[in-house]
Amino acid sequence: MTIQESITNYKRFTGTATWRVAAALIDCDGVLLDTMKNHTRAWLKLMQKNGIKCSRDEFYLYEGMTGTEIVKKKFKEGAGKVLTDDEARAYYGVKGRYFLELGEPGKVAGIDRVLSTLRDADVQRIVVTGSQQASVLNRIDREFPGLLSTERVTGHDVHHGKPHPEPFLKGVAKAGVPASQCIVIENAPLGVQAAHAAGCFTIAVTTGPVSAKALTRAGADLVFPNMDALADALPEILKGK
Ligand code: MG
Repeated sequence: MTIQESITNYKRFTGTATWRVAAALIDCDGVLLDTMKNHTRAWLKLMQKNGIKCSRDEFYLYEGMTGTEIVKKKFKEGAGKVLTDDEARAYYGVKGRYFLELGEPGKVAGIDRVLSTLRDADVQRIVVTGSQQASVLNRIDREFPGLLSTERVTGHDVHHGKPHPEPFLKGVAKAGVPASQCIVIENAPLGVQAAHAAGCFTIAVTTGPVSAKALTRAGADLVFPNMDALADALPEILKGK
């Protein structure tokens, strides 16, 4: 599908008369920062240490849920244990330490060009992430000083992680414009589902093992094979023609 066709479909589906992009709601893990490999390795280690069977790649499918939601889900499914919030937070803290041991993650290649194109077009840039991990949130501050911490929705700000629309609805509220004027940049199926349910035009980028097909099935309006391809197409998306 071309950019034009996907915008036309989106407008028809949402009853939007005019195309205007006023804000971009930007996911963090796998979009801003190349963190997913280390996240999945840290999750795997936590589960193995606690005798819970899992595969590394399954954590790509949970991406977008808050950290404590993932802990609760795996302990319930894998060990029949129902954890309290405090217990889940403690295990998530251990996972965070394993993540830190793996070193500092870099930026996703191409993201700087996406961010500067948005800035130059006066599009608000709001980070919407399920992460509650201090090391990741601090890293956004260090690597992307132009992305203000006040313009951010994190796992600390929501009751429900993705695929619930709450994180993106909070992002839309922060932007102060209708959802139909917000584009979302995501890499995970649950994130795409959440963005689509919030009514935003949803752009997915395959920066991990999840296929383009899975992202389309989750509700993505457009899918790009990498961030550079999105950066190339972004001016056309912003113009809508
Ligand atoms: Mg992500």
